[in-house]
Amino acid sequence: MIRFENVYKEYPGDNEALHDVDLHIKRGEFVFVLGPSGAGKSTFLKLILREESPTRGHVWVDGVDLADLKEKQIPYLRRKIGVVFQDFRLIPTMTVYDNVAFALRVTDVSEDRIRERVPIVLKLVGLTHKADAYPPTLSGGEQQRVAVGRALAHSPELLIADEPTGNVDPAMSLEMMKLLVAANNVGATVVVVTHEQDMARRMGKRIILLEEGRVVTDGKPGQGKGGARG
Ligand code: ADP
Repeated sequence: MIRFENVYKEYPGDNEALHDVDLHIKRGEFVFVLGPSGAGKSTFLKLILREESPTRGHVWVDGVDLADLKEKQIPYLRRKIGVVFQDFRLIPTMTVYDNVAFALRVTDVSEDRIRERVPIVLKLVGLTHKADAYPPTLSGGEQQRVAVGRALAHSPELLIADEPTGNVDPAMSLEMMKLLVAANNVGATVVVVTHEQDMARRMGKRIILLEEGRVVTDGKPGQGKGGARG
């Protein structure tokens, strides 16, 4: 699903954000990209979303070398990808239903298809009973469900969560992880970017550990050599 081949990214002013990153995330995997602030995590995501391009090396998403993508093809790439943001970015003046539907409306999906799809998504994230509620009236846990539902609205092959537990308490973090696992179970490849090592390690999934732009370990916790420490 995602392939980085000897990727380097330098920003102007000699700021090296990624150094020789070489990895493969297979379709259907659930992966953490873990690292402290400044390790290169956001840059890694920006390369996948084609918000930035590598200085050297190649990035493939779903078999396409992003260097070959024309400007007008970028929206098609992004439609394959659902993103859950740290601050959720819900629209407070729209109902839960419309927050999810909105993600489809902006990509010209027919109203018939929207009426079919939104209830499926709301059921998946356990929010059927809150379809008519507005985000400010929801609990934090419910708001994060809306954020995940919206990211899943267009059945993305790839779901990216960018520090999804950065602003929430431990109970909600666990809840968020369960939602992402549920999305993975229905077929999405899931990439979670985080600096929270304890949470990443507890999940027992593959961890790509970045430090100063380099992949220092890559594997499941406790796999010894090559695996993430701890
Ligand atoms: P993280 O998301 O892990 O905190 P980033 O990818 O944001 O890491 O940053 C990695 C390094 O690249 C840092 O040293 C950061 O200062 C630098 N960097 C990130 N974005 C830019 C930019 N637009 N211009 C210059 N340097 C940048």
